[in-house]
Amino acid sequence: MKVGWYYTHPTNRLKPNDLLDVVSEHPLSHPLIIPRSAHQISRANISEGALKVLYRLKDGGFDAYLVGGGVRDLLLGRTPKDFDVATDARPEQVKELFRNCRLIGRRFRLAHVRFGREIVEVATFRAGHAQAAQDAGQLSDEGRILRDNVYGSMEEDAYRRDFSINGLYYNIRDFSVIDYMGAMQDLETGVVRIIGDPAVRFREDPVRILRAIRFAAKLDFVLEPQTAASMCEFAPLLKDIPPARLFDEVLKLFLNGAASRTYGLLCEFGVFEYLFPQTAKYTAEQSGYALLEQALENTDLRLAEDKPVTPGFLFAALLWEPMQRLCARYKAQGASDYDALETAGVDVLTVQSGRVALPRRFAYMAREIWQLQPRFERRRGRRPFGLLSHPRFRAAYDFLLLRAQAGEGVDELATWWTEFQESGATGEKRTAAAEGRPARRRRSRRSKRARQ
Ligand code: ATP
Ligand code: MG
Repeated sequence: MKVGWYYTHPTNRLKPNDLLDVVSEHPLSHPLIIPRSAHQISRANISEGALKVLYRLKDGGFDAYLVGGGVRDLLLGRTPKDFDVATDARPEQVKELFRNCRLIGRRFRLAHVRFGREIVEVATFRAGHAQAAQDAGQLSDEGRILRDNVYGSMEEDAYRRDFSINGLYYNIRDFSVIDYMGAMQDLETGVVRIIGDPAVRFREDPVRILRAIRFAAKLDFVLEPQTAASMCEFAPLLKDIPPARLFDEVLKLFLNGAASRTYGLLCEFGVFEYLFPQTAKYTAEQSGYALLEQALENTDLRLAEDKPVTPGFLFAALLWEPMQRLCARYKAQGASDYDALETAGVDVLTVQSGRVALPRRFAYMAREIWQLQPRFERRRGRRPFGLLSHPRFRAAYDFLLLRAQAGEGVDELATWWTEFQESGATGEKRTAAAEGRPARRRRSRRSKRARQ
């Protein structure tokens, strides 16, 4: 990959160079230009929508580059989740070029160009650094960036991005890749490095701490030491991030296919306690939390097999331990089993949503999963059939299996329910056997009428 790399001179004269000498310093004094012949990004791997956007902008006389995760993932031989485009065209100019375009965003205006299910995000080059924001009075007292909608040059756009590996540009004019800050070397050596002064950049937007962990886990990269040290230092600033934004980030953290590794890093960097304070109390105490670790492993496996995963289930696992502790406390105070479980569920979720706001439908699902757990123990009579037809049976049963896997001593129960479902039409026989009585053939007329 290194063969044939060049860097631009101030005069723009191309000069062959030995890459490693050039990129040993961060940032580079001049951008590296990697010609098409020296990198592996092929247009065949760029979505049709993104290509259309790039070409139409170029033909309209504008600069147009693929940027961010798209370039990063293509260079790593991975399939990008989505494609982002950066341009010198203003949002209104982008809108004029595309009928299927909507301008969005209050903090900064972005153009979304839609092609069927695909949305290509087109952003105008911005200068987003703290200094520019400070000059314009757009920095909070803690140094958090409030607005970063100052348009800028392509170079400024590169430096306002979060990590070097996210700051590469693929030029649709000549298919070259432009690297302002040694990102190619970081990609090659597997390093997540924040751009600029880590203290300034993490203060500007503490969510970058979560993003750093996400990329390190997903790509199996290491964190550059200064970046890592600042992450630990500024993790407490996550307390000030709106819970709705944190929910989006938490989903990306745990649904990226590397949830186990992500969780390890969240704990290592002291970040987990700011996202799930109730859970963190027990993970520290027990040096690990078997059910959660198992749940995350299962999540990764399911995603690898293209099976669906739901945030409701994930949160049920994340909050299971604190919910159970609270439930036991309420019972000790005299509450009935049912009330204790119900109240503990509501209370734990309420406290959690002050930090990471779980949308109502997912919170409800987590509560149902918890509430159905004791019902698995009632195997007499027709009760198992009632539970089987509960709309949340599947998720609750999966949770029971998870508890068994995690060593909660419910193996026999889990096996019983697995066999009960497998026995299908002979389910009645299964129940009868469990109760030690002969199987009933069908319901009597009287009980049938009574049910109507
Ligand atoms: P993914 O694979 O998750 O899509 P991505 O790198 O494309 O990863 P996006 O959230 O899609 O991440 O953002 C696109 C690009 O915008 C990033 O690559 C980065 O350059 C820039 N960016 C996003 N969030 C931030 C942030 N909080 N601070 C600075 N730059 C950011
Ligand atoms: Mg992206």
